[in-house]
Amino acid sequence: MNSSLERFQKDFKALKQFGLLENGGATRLAFSQEDLAAKAWLKQAMEAAGLEVSQDALGNFRGKRPGLEKNLACVMLGSHIDTVPEGGHFDGTIGVLAALEVVRTLNDNNIQTRRPIEVVNFSAEESSRFGLATMGSKAMIGKLNPSVLKDLADKNGISLYEALEKGGYPPDALESAKIGRDEIHSFIEMHIEQGPVLENKNIPVGIVTSIAAPTRFKVSILGRADHSGNTPMDMRRDALTGAGEILLGVEQIASCEAGKKTVGTVGYLYVTPGAMNVVPGQVEMGIDIRDVSMADKDRAVKKVKELFAKISAKRNLKITHEILCNDKPVALSDKIINTLKDTAQELNIPYWVMPSGAGHDAMNMAKITDTGMIFIPSRDGISHNIAEFTRMEDIRKGMDLLLKTALKLAQE
Ligand SMILES: [Zn+2]
Repeated sequence: MNSSLERFQKDFKALKQFGLLENGGATRLAFSQEDLAAKAWLKQAMEAAGLEVSQDALGNFRGKRPGLEKNLACVMLGSHIDTVPEGGHFDGTIGVLAALEVVRTLNDNNIQTRRPIEVVNFSAEESSRFGLATMGSKAMIGKLNPSVLKDLADKNGISLYEALEKGGYPPDALESAKIGRDEIHSFIEMHIEQGPVLENKNIPVGIVTSIAAPTRFKVSILGRADHSGNTPMDMRRDALTGAGEILLGVEQIASCEAGKKTVGTVGYLYVTPGAMNVVPGQVEMGIDIRDVSMADKDRAVKKVKELFAKISAKRNLKITHEILCNDKPVALSDKIINTLKDTAQELNIPYWVMPSGAGHDAMNMAKITDTGMIFIPSRDGISHNIAEFTRMEDIRKGMDLLLKTALKLAQE
């Protein structure tokens, strides 16, 4: 029994049309017209595969393939189909379409499972429009604060609440999006890697052990803006050179002084006044530190704070920071990891066991059920970019692994 790559590709091509850009990329922001149209298409495709589709207040779709034993908890498979602006066509979508293909393959082969299998499409995984990521899965595990519906708005001032209403979803019924722990047996998300590791190792499938979590700082560095000609070097309070020391320090801490898997990034600098003939008086910078180990991340964060104090004293700068988030890394289920490994061996699919540096809906689902992730290589490690690309032959291997693993779990 094998899944049909041809049928998957047909779906892939159909879904690609929603939000397709002239440059070949995709813009399908959460609850935009393009996203809603893609969802309508997906709902139809799920129904055509015989699934009983339900949608909740956040616009998550769950499509159920009943099991032989009606009241057993389901095996859930899926991901998301919204994108970042000018994104690619593989991020999220391949996980939803592969889940759909799993169900159709079982249908083709008249295979009944003990447990129901559900295909899920989570809403608003990307934070691009409303500034908050994985909102659909957060709502599903009961961790989306109702206040965000009215507090969050896009850059045109449209609140999440309004966007949901416009999409035909009932935002006031947020509570109903919650899934009971007794309803779900396990969850698997297949997703592109969004990094270069698998391609470099020439391995078609990654089995994810844990999902790294970020600590994010907004840092303000205050010096003094001065004339670039008349201010001697030893009399300056240059906020940008201070920022330069901090950004190199963050690199040093993440590379050598924290954990083996720590990554640290200064993603932006806003320099004020930003003129060639003025010593920069003020800088705002954003720092993102991630790790799969909370202890290693805590150590890196502590060192970054010490760095602020050191640079502040050395350069006579006022450095203040605000911690925007300090999330806990998530370990995925050993049971699912082992089932994926065993199944990959049975199928002769080479695999690599690895952490995920990016967040996914799976990190929310892991809080309520046994959760696993399958990674498929990204060409050149590129994602959130129109150049995002993943080979169909690798997707086929991931899909077969998803199918056989889901089947084992659904017979438990
Ligand atoms: Zn994604």
